[in-house]
Amino acid sequence: MPRMSVASPITPQPPAPGTAGVVAALASRFGARLSTATADREAHGHGEGLRDVFAPHAVVWPETTAEVAEIVALCAAALAPVIPFGTGTSLEGHLQALAGGISIDLSRMDRVLAINAADLDCRVEAGVTREALNHAIRDQGLFFPLDPGANASLGGMAATRASGTNAVRYGTMRDVTLGLTVVTAQGKIIHTGGRARKSAAGYDLTRLYIGSEGTLGIITEIQLRLFGIPEQISAATVQFPALEHAVEAVMAVMQCAIPVARIELLDTLQMQACIAWSRLEGFVPAPTLFIEFHGSPAGVAEQISTVRDLFDGFGGSQFRFAETTEARSRLWEARHQAYHAARGLAPGKDSYSTDACVPISRLAECIAGCRAEAEALRLTAPIVGHVGDGNFHMLVLFDPEDADERARAEQLVASVSERAIAMGGTCTGEHGIGLHKLDALVLEHGEPAIAIMQAIKAALDPDGIMNPGKTVPSGRIPL
Ligand SMILES: Cc1cc2nc3c(=O)[nH]c(=O)nc-3n(C[C@H](O)[C@H](O)[C@H](O)COP(=O)(O)OP(=O)(O)OC[C@H]3O[C@@H](n4cnc5c(N)ncnc54)[C@H](O)[C@@H]3O)c2cc1C
Repeated sequence: MPRMSVASPITPQPPAPGTAGVVAALASRFGARLSTATADREAHGHGEGLRDVFAPHAVVWPETTAEVAEIVALCAAALAPVIPFGTGTSLEGHLQALAGGISIDLSRMDRVLAINAADLDCRVEAGVTREALNHAIRDQGLFFPLDPGANASLGGMAATRASGTNAVRYGTMRDVTLGLTVVTAQGKIIHTGGRARKSAAGYDLTRLYIGSEGTLGIITEIQLRLFGIPEQISAATVQFPALEHAVEAVMAVMQCAIPVARIELLDTLQMQACIAWSRLEGFVPAPTLFIEFHGSPAGVAEQISTVRDLFDGFGGSQFRFAETTEARSRLWEARHQAYHAARGLAPGKDSYSTDACVPISRLAECIAGCRAEAEALRLTAPIVGHVGDGNFHMLVLFDPEDADERARAEQLVASVSERAIAMGGTCTGEHGIGLHKLDALVLEHGEPAIAIMQAIKAALDPDGIMNPGKTVPSGRIPL
């Protein structure tokens, strides 16, 4: 099999001829809520990660679902590309406007519309961020557990099928989303799902739009499950003499079905970065697990005791608790800063993010193989991971001016995906496909399945205006 490339080549496409007319119409309709300023266009022409900027022609800030529908209908009539924008933290080139077009920034749709404590659910507009939602519901004893390291919008999180450190216990956006309001590629408004905890009513459109990365429609409202703040929350850290011991300890915890809420791995290099970046005290640069337990006081005590015994068996040492809320917040803030800490290891370098996720029984082998390859390729590539799910990120740092180092980085990134897929896993546990993982998607699913994805895209967005060039390869494969 030929080695796949890290990214399908990024080819700018010629701008749609009707786009200039759309910009003029939107400017007259939305006034100051439409911008063609270079700074705004460039800020909306990339996400995090690789900064290859492909700016849209204009950025517009709608405030209601009806306004989003109006904008999309105008774009549809002129065949102008539409790229929904949440907070711009996606990592796989999701936001590059390859053919220009209109970036629809949802950040002004930031209202929490309903909180139903009795049913443990809520309805929010797409621009509400995960932190803003938690702020709004905390007083009612509720929390929303999904926490990508960035303070992403819930619309962006739904669009990328995001998760985070709590997914091992609470699931991903696929699991916590009950329903959506979506503006279709034709500018029509539809509602999917509802508030019921389960439904067998027809095709599951909610899950079709979740993870569709702005390529099928624009999510404007989301009905979400919420959770009661646990009676007892305890966080701890433990350090291991070697990476394989830490990973095997995680596998043991999962195989014993201990309901940990979070179990996160940081390898030696990542710990070195976090100690420096977040001024963590009392740690040595060694493979480390950050763990959190949720439940009743007795339940948490039992979980801790079992986990401790297991970790002892794998050489775990310095089992330490973050006793206070402040200490716990500091610990998890350090974990959420891991990406920036890792980039701080080599200021000025660029990075590729990897997102392998494998069955838990293959995790140790997968991480060891990736680690060995990074060393053989002489690359700096710290590892951090939501290892309870079998998901880990190797951040591959490279000098964008050094063609040889960039080529080695791309080789490693492709190989991480290939290795995970070969083990029955996936090239992306949570970040999505965007532009950079299109080849890996084909490798993972095979051409017949890709043909079905393309048929869905063609049926829902026949003119290809929705975030063109992303998520599904464009070269048509017959069904
Ligand atoms: C430091 C750091 C840590 C991260 N950690 C995690 C992590 O632990 N877990 C994880 O899952 N991700 C993580 N991410 C990635 C990122 O935060 C997620 O992908 C997040 O879900 C993106 O949300 P956003 O609002 O920034 O979306 P954007 O980046 O603005 O958009 C992402 C994609 O969704 C589309 N989109 C956005 N809003 C909508 C909408 N309303 N309707 C339809 N399509 C839309 C866009 O067109 C684009 O294709 C991390 C990123 C960073 C920088």
